[in-house]
Amino acid sequence: MDFAELRELYQEMILDHGRRPRNFGRLTSANHTAEGHNPVCGDQVALYLRVEDGKIADASFEGKGCAISTASASLLTTEVKGRSVAEANELFRNFHLMVTGGREGPPDIEALGKLAIFQGVREFPIRVKCASLPWHTLRAALEGKKEKVSTE
Ligand code: ZN
Repeated sequence: MDFAELRELYQEMILDHGRRPRNFGRLTSANHTAEGHNPVCGDQVALYLRVEDGKIADASFEGKGCAISTASASLLTTEVKGRSVAEANELFRNFHLMVTGGREGPPDIEALGKLAIFQGVREFPIRVKCASLPWHTLRAALEGKKEKVSTE
């Protein structure tokens, strides 16, 4: 995939998921939840997970934010559903490496599947926090953290 294609896919995906977010709404059967906030942009996200036998059986989110944070939460909930907690943590690690430029080592882009489109966010450094907010919130939910996550 060349850079122009990647950018086009990125913009399409942000528009599509930003307008029609998947898995939007409170999951009443959730047993892992967390809230996150990105003060720079004003994004708010609440993540709901139902974890059964080390597997994420269901996932949803609620929130108010820009198209990028909404699209990221939409794709995150789609991608982690049906995965083990270990796989979800590995996705978090790779996603984080990808959007931050991978100073701690190169990300496994192939393992990210559709999420690899978020490489496009690196062009807009101020948006990196919007894209990664749902992922930090995911990790907090899996770790059972009580305090609200902040990207600051
Ligand atoms: Zn944002």
